[in-house]
Amino acid sequence: MTNVETAKGHYIAGKWQPAHGDETFDVINPATEEIIALVSAGDEQDINAAVAAAREAFDNGPWPKMSGKERGGYLRKIAEIITRRIDELSALEVKDNGKPFPEAKWDIEDTAGTFEFYANLAEQLDESPEEIIALSEPGFSSKAIKEPIGVAGAIIPWNFPMLMAAWKVAPALAAGCTMVLKPSEITPLTALALADIAIEAGLPDGVLNIVTGLGQGAGQPLAEHKDVDKMAFTGSVPTGAKIMEMAARNIKNVSLELGGKSPLVIFNDTDIEIAVEWIMFGIFWNQGQVCSATSRVLVEESLYPALLERLVLEAQKITIGEGTIDGVLLGPLVNQAQYQKVLASIERAIAEGATLASGGKKPSHLSEGYYLEPTILTDMPEDSWIWQEEIFGPVVCVKAFKTEAQAIAMANNSRFGLAAAVMSKDQARCDRVAKAFKAGIVWVNCSQPTFVEAPWGGYKQSGIGRELGKWGLNNYLETKQITQFNSDEPWGWYLK
Ligand code: NAD
Repeated sequence: MTNVETAKGHYIAGKWQPAHGDETFDVINPATEEIIALVSAGDEQDINAAVAAAREAFDNGPWPKMSGKERGGYLRKIAEIITRRIDELSALEVKDNGKPFPEAKWDIEDTAGTFEFYANLAEQLDESPEEIIALSEPGFSSKAIKEPIGVAGAIIPWNFPMLMAAWKVAPALAAGCTMVLKPSEITPLTALALADIAIEAGLPDGVLNIVTGLGQGAGQPLAEHKDVDKMAFTGSVPTGAKIMEMAARNIKNVSLELGGKSPLVIFNDTDIEIAVEWIMFGIFWNQGQVCSATSRVLVEESLYPALLERLVLEAQKITIGEGTIDGVLLGPLVNQAQYQKVLASIERAIAEGATLASGGKKPSHLSEGYYLEPTILTDMPEDSWIWQEEIFGPVVCVKAFKTEAQAIAMANNSRFGLAAAVMSKDQARCDRVAKAFKAGIVWVNCSQPTFVEAPWGGYKQSGIGRELGKWGLNNYLETKQITQFNSDEPWGWYLK
């Protein structure tokens, strides 16, 4: 495959361009710990070139002036190419990120689906180009129109590499913005493939630019750049806070999708078997490296012992191994640093009073790779690190509660507010609890299913703004009012 195994520079102004410097970084397969690619470590000059290309394409190119139908045509073509290459791209994601192949395939299907969805929304922009505003003052008429914000910068994490790119690239391009994307240095390979896909789709020069690199070397100059009008970021809270500070310097519009510590509240009328599947899916898919992962489980006291026993039993049956192997449900964590961080969090949890009910160590049958057994912790204090902080690994904390009010208070006792879930056969109770959660995404009798049509984003420190659906498109649109005076008579300030 082109531009993947060795560093070939960056995708700028419609083609591969040599990197400004010679520096590269290693990309490692977390299942084997082998280096699988050397990728250019972009610097400020590379970012400047990419932003200049995006600026030129926005200010003087056809893209923002095209009809939504025409832009949608390009997005649809990108979706088609992704779909045609689905197995190869899924395999690449497995090598780069470690996730099991079927999960990688969901991601790539959803990536194509995201481009397809925003192709439709681009077309819909043509159907409702303006909104007439009713004014109380006679003699005037007013309307609101939407325009693309301009040049957008996007910085993304490593947990869903190609999908997170699509969540930003597709709505930005549908809106008529141009974009500079910096993928995570841990998993840049499918973003490089996206550049080849954009070339094949014939995307006009400079509409999408992709610069690989580290956070400080490439991400920072992008977030600080005076010619970038909007920053869209997905990643951790500390980096999100830095992005906001940098963006503040020229009052860039910012949207942030940050971390979470999402609760699942289970009442005692819930079927244990079904609850356990949702818990396990919620915390063990993608090795628990999911912003909305079900990392805190609250179980009604009378159900707690039986549910915990079943959860431990089922967790111990999970097949752990390389994501390429059939039947594997849990792959390796993404890299050594993340692996060590998760192991250290488990140690700290135990030191702070938690009980290890299952897992907590590397499976004995695997020597290479950053593997961790599905881990279940109980009895932790509510103010402990493990109950409050995002671990981003296959580690679930389980606690009992006595009353609905207590469950809601415990669920909301967090600086995060990305997602929350409730399970009960009592619909009225589900409705009450769903409303009481301080979270941007609430699941009822399930946890995690995500749909491109529905808004995605967090309350509190989990972020600002919403991605996906029409909300995702609005992230990249400005609103302009056009107000007209419909009379030849003087206004009357001094002319009579
Ligand atoms: P991270 O913050 O370490 O890195 C994210 C991106 O920011 C990377 O591309 C990195 O290179 C870049 N970056 C790092 N320092 C930077 C700087 N100083 N200036 C500019 N860019 C910089 O996060 P991560 O470890 O890659 O991802 C995990 C985090 O992402 C978790 O907290 C997770 O919850 C969050 N996440 C959130 C969502 C969501 O939708 N809310 C989705 C996926 C991941």
